[in-house]
Order: sequence, then C-alpha cells, then structure tokens
Amino acid sequence: MNRAVFLDRDGVINAALYNPVEGKLDSPYKLQDFRLLPGAAQAIREINSLGYLAVVVSNQPGVAKGKCGLAFLDALDERLNWELARQGAHLDAIYYCLHHPQAQVESLRASCDCRKPQPGLLLRAARELDIDLACSYMVGDLPTDVATGLAAGCRTILLSDAEEPPLTGHQPHLVATDLAAAVRVIAEGRR
Ligand SMILES: [Mg+2]
Ligand SMILES: [Zn+2]
Repeated sequence: MNRAVFLDRDGVINAALYNPVEGKLDSPYKLQDFRLLPGAAQAIREINSLGYLAVVVSNQPGVAKGKCGLAFLDALDERLNWELARQGAHLDAIYYCLHHPQAQVESLRASCDCRKPQPGLLLRAARELDIDLACSYMVGDLPTDVATGLAAGCRTILLSDAEEPPLTGHQPHLVATDLAAAVRVIAEGRR
C-alpha cells in the first residue's frame, strides 16, 4: 500500500487571498493572483523523494458560488502543475470538493460527504490510490483540515506561525510553521 501526504491547497501550497466581502481568506480566482508559497515546491519535491504520494484535498466552492468556472479550476491546476514541474516536484493527484450547501449552481448544491471536515476526499483517494491512511499525513492551515485528517485516521499537521495555535477541540498531532517545516517533521519520522 502507498503512504500519502494529503495537502490542503490554499494557504499551504499557494497563497490564500483576503476576501474583504467575506472577511476571510479565499482562493485565488485569477491566474495572476496565483502564487506558490516560498519553499512549497521544494517541500513537495521532498515528499516525492521520501516515497509519499502528494495528494491535494481541497474545498473549492468557487464554482458553486459563481466566483469562477470549472475551466478556471482546470487552468489553475495546469498552472500549479507547471510551476511545480519547473522545480522538479509533482502532485500525484488533486481532489476537490466542488459542493456547497448554499450553492447558486443547483447541481453543486449538496450536503456532500466530501466537503472538509468530512473525510470523503481522503477516503476516495485511499480507495483509488491504495493508500494506507494510518501511515499518511494531512497537512493544512485550518482546524477543519485537522478535523478532516483525524476523521480519516491520518496523522495531522497544522500549519501555524502563531506561538499558541488556536485550541479548537481538534488537536493536531504536530504543528509546523509552513509546509517545508511539516515535511522536515515527516522526514524525521516524528509522530
Ligand atoms: Mg487552507
Ligand atoms: Zn463535496
């Protein structure tokens, strides 16, 4: 069986952008807003060389909310894969939940089992890519990412540069400042 490092996308691999309307960080919805975070590509290259699958698992309700089209998500994936490839790194798979309970787009309006913190994306990846979840890690920048990883039975690493990471009821196994630091922890075999 394979081991995987499941990666949230926005705020882990690429920069999230502040959305003043929603008052929170959001995904990029223009290609020119897409920016890899410093060290992210090297960290994914290290995941590749450690023999873990690098699998993105991300809620992307932008299509459901009318913020972008499906073609844009594909274009962003292409850009992401290209930026990684030029630095010798690759993703083994990308899984998105496109649903939202209040979607404008009716076909995507659903209470699904794949919107994080539900573990559906990880369970599907485990089936399709023969992944041993107990030997895998979930890395994310939000408590929902931690909850998702715990629900799937993975080790969890919360990315936070706060001195005291927020107490949420979902305690991560480990805390790291960024993806590069998380991968160093994984390489050391710390659990
Ligand atoms: Mg995130
Ligand atoms: Zn979903």
